[in-house]
Amino acid sequence: MQGSTQGWSRLPAVVALDGDDTLWHNETAFAASHDRFRDLLGRHVDLPAAEVDALLLATERRNLSAYGYGVKGFTLSMVETAIAVTGGRIPAAEIQEILDLGRAMLAHPVELLDGVREAVDRLRAAGLPLWIITKGDLFDQESKIARSGLADLFQHVEIVSEKDPDTYGRLLERNGIPPRDFLMAGNSLRSDVLPVLALGGRAVHVPYALTWAHEVVDEAPTDGFATLDSLRDLPDLLGL
Ligand SMILES: [Mg+2]
Repeated sequence: MQGSTQGWSRLPAVVALDGDDTLWHNETAFAASHDRFRDLLGRHVDLPAAEVDALLLATERRNLSAYGYGVKGFTLSMVETAIAVTGGRIPAAEIQEILDLGRAMLAHPVELLDGVREAVDRLRAAGLPLWIITKGDLFDQESKIARSGLADLFQHVEIVSEKDPDTYGRLLERNGIPPRDFLMAGNSLRSDVLPVLALGGRAVHVPYALTWAHEVVDEAPTDGFATLDSLRDLPDLLGL
């Protein structure tokens, strides 16, 4: 454990966990699709991989306000980037290949991260109310939660379109939870840690091996929250 847990002497009233790359693997599937997408474009244009990635990321960011987070928006952004990069010459059969990549991601088996089941069981055994707070396509996230086998262990599931202080603030107010009694654990500093700290809540960062470029924080603070190698260690951190 690194970081600070000052003022954490009392147990939180609620422990909320992020979904993608906190409970289950996600970014690895996106990275695999990126690889396939680069190969596909490589049939038409000779662009360095970093440039293809940058173009795709720019398209995804531009489209976030229209499509939100998730696989469907990512797929449309791949199609749009492919059309732009090939000057409109990409054949329909290859657009179909991109659509198939997206469809395969949606059907990808939900694979829990190591130690997740154990951590959730221990938190539950201690009587802590557990929430999932995740962002992305409603349908896809609901499906992943159902397929994770964890749904029954959570008291509350919230699928949101953005994880910012406003979203968290509204959620806590609606459920009558004071921010200081709320703990959020997740892989993203930008979505799971910083907005919760801004509200006066407690946050635990559990980094994943890969981070989507959009979630990277340039000047990340290192204080005011705890960092764990694995969610497995969360019960110990809380002294359970
Ligand atoms: Mg995540």
